[in-house]
Amino acid sequence: MRLSDERYEEIKEEVVELYKELHITKFPVIAMDVCKQLDIVLKSYNQFNERAFVAVIRASEDGMVAKIDNHYEIFYNPSKDSARVRFTIFHEIGHIRLHHLIHDEENEAEANFFASYFLAPAPLIHYFNLEYIHEVMDKFWVTISLATNAFSRYGKWLKYSGNFYTQYEKELLELVKEENT
Ligand SMILES: [Zn+2]
Repeated sequence: MRLSDERYEEIKEEVVELYKELHITKFPVIAMDVCKQLDIVLKSYNQFNERAFVAVIRASEDGMVAKIDNHYEIFYNPSKDSARVRFTIFHEIGHIRLHHLIHDEENEAEANFFASYFLAPAPLIHYFNLEYIHEVMDKFWVTISLATNAFSRYGKWLKYSGNFYTQYEKELLELVKEENT
């Protein structure tokens, strides 16, 4: 599902807000550290007993998020490969940060975009001079499908934004330059 251009911009701004809040300057970003900083408890599906395990797998093959008392818990399926598990965790963080209350197609598309922009934002593909999809995969520890999408978005970004950087892009680059010059 395609979101509006305006919404994509808002989500990118949200991602950069999170980068600033957590002072993210090193790559690949460690999902476990991000969860710790945000007070999110990370749990594997393996902790469920067999019956509960079957129920959660049916509800979501990759992962889910729940608010328990005053904190969030993210559950993930550890039998998926590690790059996919990372994507799932950031997808669930997207649901939290974008204040999603329901699980519909639009919110799924938003959380997916949040995770892919968080993991491999176009300005950083540019900053690190990544020229091939496999370089994007290695730098950011993402799946081939995410790297392919991020790379194609990067191509459009290069073509259309030229030398113009939005405020959030400038902020993202400032932050990352601190440790990567
Ligand atoms: Zn979701």
